Amino acid sequence: MHNAAQFLGKKALVLGLAKSGHAAASLLATCGASVTLNDSAPDNGNPLAEELRVQGVHVICGGHPEDILDAGFDFIVKNPGIPYTNPVILQAEQLGIPIWTEIELAYLISEAPFIGITGSNGKTTTTTLLYHMLNIGDRHPLIAGNIGTVASTVASTATADEVIVLEASSFQLMGVDEFRPHIAIWTNLYEAHLDYHGSATAYAEAKAQITKNQTATDFLIYNADQPVIKRFIENSKATLVPFTTRGRCSEGISADGESIYWLGEPIISRKKITLPGAHNLENILSATAAALLYGCERSAIESVLSSFTGVRHRMQFVTEYDGRKFYNDSKATNTLATKSALSSFETPTILIAGGLDRGHSFEELRSHMTNVKALIGIGETGDRLLQFAESCGVGIVHEAGTLREAILVAYAASDIGDTVLLSPACASWDQYPNFEARGDEFIEAVQKLKA
Ligand code: ADP
Repeated sequence: MHNAAQFLGKKALVLGLAKSGHAAASLLATCGASVTLNDSAPDNGNPLAEELRVQGVHVICGGHPEDILDAGFDFIVKNPGIPYTNPVILQAEQLGIPIWTEIELAYLISEAPFIGITGSNGKTTTTTLLYHMLNIGDRHPLIAGNIGTVASTVASTATADEVIVLEASSFQLMGVDEFRPHIAIWTNLYEAHLDYHGSATAYAEAKAQITKNQTATDFLIYNADQPVIKRFIENSKATLVPFTTRGRCSEGISADGESIYWLGEPIISRKKITLPGAHNLENILSATAAALLYGCERSAIESVLSSFTGVRHRMQFVTEYDGRKFYNDSKATNTLATKSALSSFETPTILIAGGLDRGHSFEELRSHMTNVKALIGIGETGDRLLQFAESCGVGIVHEAGTLREAILVAYAASDIGDTVLLSPACASWDQYPNFEARGDEFIEAVQKLKA
């Protein structure tokens, strides 16, 4: 651990007793800080709270005491989900107390350098791809963030010859101060999380925090096909590495129908790539650029690109059965993601979609419905999707109560050469605890069909 003594005797307030709050409080206590952890929910015998008490952490659950800041904290580590309108946070801002998220802590104690990946979509896919490239390329990567272990836990044992590949959300990036990734990736920018950030500009500015401490020896890989991003990185001091899927380019990394190009030179044939989807080509470009900048051999990158079939639940190729290919894109919880999925296939597609009804429209999908030959609706929005599909001229529509039924109908409606795609365009919470459970049930239903 790098400079653990920096927290010795410091007074820290950790807000939120989730996985990251627990990790941060425990780490700070280990470093000799005097730690208070506060959560608005009652602890109800939560074992995490008990563990922290044993470590000497002062745990206060069931509300935010009005005078909690009177103890005079040196800094606060807050759960990324806690909004900046929270009264304790508002008060701390007035008092000038630094308010961090746990990735700042991870950065401060890490012996290993960081590669940070942010953006509205594609973070997990890019992070995973890059992790595999660095791994095969013998660069000793550690994965942290949403798909891995909490960043500060990973950082506490990371060594200087390793590198932490961190998926960073806008919420997390709001709370950084010194965090400085050696390589940063900004995948794309779409409108999201307006309820939290207040405006599209504030959301983009939070993402731009990923580069605020970078210098000319660091790299920022960004999506040049979205000119809006350029506006938010114009003050970056990092070496800029643009990526574009709109044809060969002499700068950064680019792609046309034939090849991927690095600084204008062809490096990998598109034929080698197994991961489908135009959106995934963007993820491939940024991951490849980062891997090259971090010293990976081309052969290592190529071997990942020729075997990687997707992250679980994200355009994941499940199997081929009786000439039909089955894809699980359960993570597609909005129409934008389903649009990307539909545009990935040129084959006739049987689309299984539907889920939690937020009253949102499916119109955005209309121009991508031409290859959809059947739509199987599931969940709360199933019937609305059926009507929408009919209005798009889709020949076969059916509402299914379960994914098992949906698979049977999808199989019956399909022919050799078709694609069967679960890409719900809706959240899963009407029928499942999360999108992972929905995707798992889809995979199981496909395996049963095969059996
Ligand atoms: P994140 O971690 O940012 O949520 P994921 O890699 O988990 O992103 O992908 C989530 C969904 O977003 C995928 O199912 C896919 O449909 C869509 N997606 C992935 N990459 C991109 C991209 N580069 N551009 C647009 N959409 C994407």
